[in-house]
Amino acid sequence: MRLTFLGTSAGENYPALWCNCPNCEYARRHGGKNIRQNTCTMLDDDVMLDLSNHAFQSSLLYGRDLTALRLLLVTHRHKDHLYTHHLIWRTKMRTADNRIIEPTNDIDMDEAVHWMGSRLTPLPWLDIYGHESVYREILQNDRYHPELEEEVYKVAFHPLRSGETVFRPDLDISFTAVASRHGVPTFNYIIERGGTTLLYALDCGSYEADMLSLIAKYRYDCVVIEGTFGLMPDRFEMHQNLDKNLEIMRFFDENRLWKTEKRFIITHMSPHWTPPHEEYCRIVAPYGMTVAYDGMSVEF
Ligand SMILES: [Zn+2]
Ligand SMILES: [Zn+2]
Ligand SMILES: [Zn+2]
Repeated sequence: MRLTFLGTSAGENYPALWCNCPNCEYARRHGGKNIRQNTCTMLDDDVMLDLSNHAFQSSLLYGRDLTALRLLLVTHRHKDHLYTHHLIWRTKMRTADNRIIEPTNDIDMDEAVHWMGSRLTPLPWLDIYGHESVYREILQNDRYHPELEEEVYKVAFHPLRSGETVFRPDLDISFTAVASRHGVPTFNYIIERGGTTLLYALDCGSYEADMLSLIAKYRYDCVVIEGTFGLMPDRFEMHQNLDKNLEIMRFFDENRLWKTEKRFIITHMSPHWTPPHEEYCRIVAPYGMTVAYDGMSVEF
């Protein structure tokens, strides 16, 4: 598996949109890894974990081509994880008399200039999985027309239940929905591909006992977990601070859930409780944690 982090911030971004505090100002002055955009992560070339507002800009910055996406796993309906408007731009071209033009790689741009729409080229099907509330969120977008899914967008939504495993032999991947406590229905995902296993744990305040048992049935090459509240001393129900991250790490250590190497990666960070990148790296390094940054790529 290769993971490319296209965004690593919590909802407000890093620096926060409307804030000039020392951390936000530091990020503005120094740029680079201190700038974080809303979370989304690409798995290999064909799988996306959440579709943030920034997915397309980030994919350009970090040289990833989103037109090859086949699978989108959505954790939950919060808008920093699911920007539904990106989906409507999969629309095919139409002629002035409303005839749909079939996309082709052999495009005559002189002819295409007469058509209306946003996609000239063929795309593979995009299968979207998530809790049913994710689909309701997509339908809330009044520019998204479900009747066009099959013929125009080439998108199919598949609702998941907590604990359900889906095997997609055509994509050589299987994934299991793990319900997390986050205030709205949220699934973290245990993802298996090519003999490697990942737990993608965003957003996640904590887990009920049955979900911890489910997690403990697998052995992992990597855990990617939200670290929204970093150094906040209080434990907030909907998200993790460093303390809770350490608790999850201990759960993995004590239950011997690592295959060989231990990869514990923090993402989804807020500017007001996680210091700027290098400083937070120094703080968590002794625990064996890696702090993700926008554009970071890991392979395992
Ligand atoms: Zn979030
Ligand atoms: Zn700030
Ligand atoms: Zn959330």
